[in-house]
Amino acid sequence: MNLLHSINDFNEAKQVIPGGVNSPVRAFKSVGGTPPFISKGEGCYLFDVDGNRYIDFVQSWGPLIFGHCDSDITENVSKAIKNGLSFGAPTELETALCKEIISLYEGIEKIRLVNSGTEATMSAIRLARGYSKKDDIIKFEGNYHGHSDSLLVSAGSGCATFGSPSSPGVPEDFSKHTLVARYNDIESVKSCFKNSRNVGCVIIEPIAGNMGLVPAKIEFLKELRKLCDSYGAVLIFDEVMSGFRASIKGVQGYCDVVPDMVTFGKVIGGGMPLAAFGGKDEIMNLLSPLGGVYQAGTLSGNPIAVSAGLTSVCKIKKNPHIYTTLEALSKRLMEGFSKNAMRYSIPLQTCVRGSMFGFFFNPNEIHNFEDAQKSDVEMFAKFHQKMLSKGIYLACSQFETGFICTAMNETIIDEAIEACRSSFDEINRGI
Ligand SMILES: *Cc1c(COP(=O)(O)O)cnc(C)c1O
Repeated sequence: MNLLHSINDFNEAKQVIPGGVNSPVRAFKSVGGTPPFISKGEGCYLFDVDGNRYIDFVQSWGPLIFGHCDSDITENVSKAIKNGLSFGAPTELETALCKEIISLYEGIEKIRLVNSGTEATMSAIRLARGYSKKDDIIKFEGNYHGHSDSLLVSAGSGCATFGSPSSPGVPEDFSKHTLVARYNDIESVKSCFKNSRNVGCVIIEPIAGNMGLVPAKIEFLKELRKLCDSYGAVLIFDEVMSGFRASIKGVQGYCDVVPDMVTFGKVIGGGMPLAAFGGKDEIMNLLSPLGGVYQAGTLSGNPIAVSAGLTSVCKIKKNPHIYTTLEALSKRLMEGFSKNAMRYSIPLQTCVRGSMFGFFFNPNEIHNFEDAQKSDVEMFAKFHQKMLSKGIYLACSQFETGFICTAMNETIIDEAIEACRSSFDEINRGI
């Protein structure tokens, strides 16, 4: 595969952008090689500046459930652009989008729109703290909620204790308010509550997609709900990735646990910078201008972003059956990968939730971050390179989730399965 133009572009980008990228995972650091520079997308395909075509299983890291250049979305965006790019004043579109989301997600009575998932979780936590009047928060090891200070905290010396900053630049003092629990381990959450006595909120990816795909067990979510109730803590489901992806109702399509707040992003923006947080009236009404908890944004609820998001969400609502098709395709892909792995005696764990899929080069089941980290990342790097050279664009880390879009079909999936087989074959033969 010829990547000459991409190699040049990458070198040039590195002169003016740290690492040549505007979000670190794009740099291919954990798999090596040069990231293809993209010139355009079309349906389920990506095209790079050297003219290579890829089947895209990243879909902009989740947002593009209808694939690239969906005609309804591009049409409505083009129309909206003609009316002006931004007003900094309310529009009817914003109300329409919030109504659609509220109609599908239980526990949400009001929503505020923001520009990124990071903003959504950061603001949700401020609001939860303002509501509960307690400063400590619990998050889970391996869950990602964007890059705000109090959420860039990892388990430090052990779970169920106060965390330590996972990035230079985050003051130790900030991380002292963040306790880190083990995913799918309710005892560790209980320890956090006991260690702190001042927990105002618990934030969780109920279907974790940022340590690879690792869903929370239903029983675990139920216990979590009970614990939050008994300690008076706000339960936030971070569905920035799983919302409108795992099902039309996110994790609520799999269980009846109702959180106090939900954060959204990715799919609700249809490919534009748009995210949201919502919850019960009692909590949301504390947000300014109604209440004292401050949150704002010059471009929040931007009319172009909202028109892309509203088109996506309305299209989903009109065609809820797409999730059946998408899940069947995810399953076909993962079953194909599994069969190939067995054939070449490669240990592989797979997982599917609606249009999300994940696989780990690991002989054991994955329930938490510790399990995920025992995966064979060198094997993943080799596999990723092989697949890319065969025109299959997978997320460039073992700890990411893959996405299916409606522009895919069984033929496309089977192409990817065959590329996987020949990749395993080459790896087995040491090529
Ligand atoms: C992507 C993601 C975020 C952050 O969203 P950005 O728009 O990248 O800031 C937060 N939480 C989860 C679960 C995500 O997957």
